[in-house]
Amino acid sequence: HVILVLASVLAVLSIAAIVTLIVLWLTVLTPFEDYSLVIDAGSSHSTIFVYKWPADKSDGLGTTSRVSQVISREVAGGPISSITDTTENGTRQYFNAAMIECLNVIPSNRKSRALIFLGATAGLRLFNITSPDYINRLLNATRAYFGTLGVLFGAPEFQVRIIDGSEEGLSGWITANILLHQLYDNNVPLQTYGVVDMGGASTQLSFIAPQATSEHYLMNLFDTDYDVYSHSYLCYGQDQLRLIYQGQLVQQANGLISIDDPCLQSGYIQNISYSSISGTACAIGRLTTPTGVNSTSLITFRGTGNYSACQELMRARLNKTACSTNGNCSFDGVYQPIPISSSLKFVAFAAVFYAFDTLAPFVPISSDSYGNYDLSTTNLTQIKAAIATVCNQPWLNVTNATRFRPFLCFQTMYHWTLFEYGYALTESNIKNFQIVNKINSNDIGWTLGYMINQTNHLSPEYRPSRLLTQA
Ligand code: AMP
Repeated sequence: HVILVLASVLAVLSIAAIVTLIVLWLTVLTPFEDYSLVIDAGSSHSTIFVYKWPADKSDGLGTTSRVSQVISREVAGGPISSITDTTENGTRQYFNAAMIECLNVIPSNRKSRALIFLGATAGLRLFNITSPDYINRLLNATRAYFGTLGVLFGAPEFQVRIIDGSEEGLSGWITANILLHQLYDNNVPLQTYGVVDMGGASTQLSFIAPQATSEHYLMNLFDTDYDVYSHSYLCYGQDQLRLIYQGQLVQQANGLISIDDPCLQSGYIQNISYSSISGTACAIGRLTTPTGVNSTSLITFRGTGNYSACQELMRARLNKTACSTNGNCSFDGVYQPIPISSSLKFVAFAAVFYAFDTLAPFVPISSDSYGNYDLSTTNLTQIKAAIATVCNQPWLNVTNATRFRPFLCFQTMYHWTLFEYGYALTESNIKNFQIVNKINSNDIGWTLGYMINQTNHLSPEYRPSRLLTQA
């Protein structure tokens, strides 16, 4: 009987020991991770990114641990502004399929600590000018939906908002320099990369510029000061720029509705309603409607595929004369402290990457295993020759065209005219220029840098970084 009692006590003790060991393993030996969801609500589409980082606050984003991207999912159905039902249910229908996939990668015991942020960029900045009531309802409906997800959503106004252009530029700068190991591994400000981000409605240029006298932002990252110039050109994203370009062609055509377009390949025809061209906030003060044309007119743009005529029209979009009295100026009177032809290194991403990736076989240049291009193996002359080849190629000769392919001549001409003619990039600086898509499994965009910066405003227990502040 005594032996039986002893055996039972031993059995209970061993079960208790095993349970204690499992609990110890789960809580101590397996480090917890924290998660966050960041939604890039862009002018042409929304993408949800899931990030994670070690939950050990004492380590934060220090040298031994980092924030990394777990997955990203594009929301089907176009930009957030395609939502017409501005109710919680309407936004749920738009986001839900991609959102469920993203929420599923967050362990259930970490979900209630997971932060969610939505940053809307230039697409909504523009809609907010023409339809502020709609935008207000849209953002409120999105907030109501996010409140049902079981994630940490205590500051709705702050966690779902339209972000400023400079914030977008600085966030992209932080992302690129974190992923390219220029911040915590190598905290020498002058060695950081300048960043060129091209979206559909705006484009951002950001680089270290201690000499800048305006539009510069002091950031302390990982105990080092970075003085970063950042300018966002609203209406100079590639889609808005094309609408203004088309509006100018309509104006010059004096009432004709079938118009030659040298930036489309010959044989390609684009039909577009005049209301799409004149209805954007970017048209205000830039376009006047000629007699014979009204918002119901359907305009036909006929590709003539003419490199030099296209280049000339593109240069005319960047008003250099507005800079004549000011040396530190790109175009349209915008302050730029130094030309990007200085010794700075640059990375370009987003739409610059998509277009260059399609242009690359004509350059010719090859990419690394992530698809990124290091332009030190090419030069401006080769790139311009490739653009000429595309622009002058008859559309009939193009095979396997995606929906983006018809605009390759227009877009690459715009990007490289902006860099060379607008920002003063020269042949000698091309060796310091990279066009990037991903670093390891992390997409390069503004969301990662934004998340790190935003979490800094939250109570310390929820921050992935305790070091980042913005002056
Ligand atoms: P946004 O939605 O404002 O971030 O703008 C993204 C821009 O990149 C838009 O002009 C899109 O048309 C373009 N874009 C997005 N995805 C692709 C792709 N896979 N290939 C080519 N262009 C793209």
